[in-house]
Amino acid sequence: MSKVLSGLASMAMLIAVPAFADQADHRQLGPHVHGQGTLDIAIEGNKIEMELVSPGMDIVGFEHIASTDEQKAAVEKAKAKLADVLAVFKLPAAANCKAETANVENRKETHKPGEKDDDDDDKPGAPQHSEFHATYTITCEAPERVTGLETVYFSNFAGAQLLNVNVTSPKGQTQAQMTRDKPTLDLTGAM
Ligand SMILES: [Zn+2]
Repeated sequence: MSKVLSGLASMAMLIAVPAFADQADHRQLGPHVHGQGTLDIAIEGNKIEMELVSPGMDIVGFEHIASTDEQKAAVEKAKAKLADVLAVFKLPAAANCKAETANVENRKETHKPGEKDDDDDDKPGAPQHSEFHATYTITCEAPERVTGLETVYFSNFAGAQLLNVNVTSPKGQTQAQMTRDKPTLDLTGAM
């Protein structure tokens, strides 16, 4: 196959891969960094899919399995807050968006097989990493009016400092960051 043809073939493969195809493997990348979450946004037509992964430390201030009533309540409260996606990640009202699905889990971080883990999970009471993992489906009546996004994520969750954002749309892929100082995302041209 010529260079041009194989280039075209690999481009076609990239286009054919659904945005979240790597979701299952996504968390195999390594331990998270406290203070930093990731937000993946995939936009197509009038549909927006979002996936948020945040260290438990960012959201509730601890990562061990909730054992006291207070800790369990904190986890449930955080899950409820995160489930109301359009309250946390505000889209322009003119776009008329609504949340179709929201799924929030609190899960223990997985490590690569054989990877050295600082936390010895076999020891009772040893510290563990855990993450909040949320997936959302949103539809918008006027997707062309989704020009940006503003989040109260940082004011809601005291330990969160940064969100690394990946935006995928038919127009391409972009990376950005939202922070406490800049809790906004420019989506001009993404829809
Ligand atoms: Zn952690």
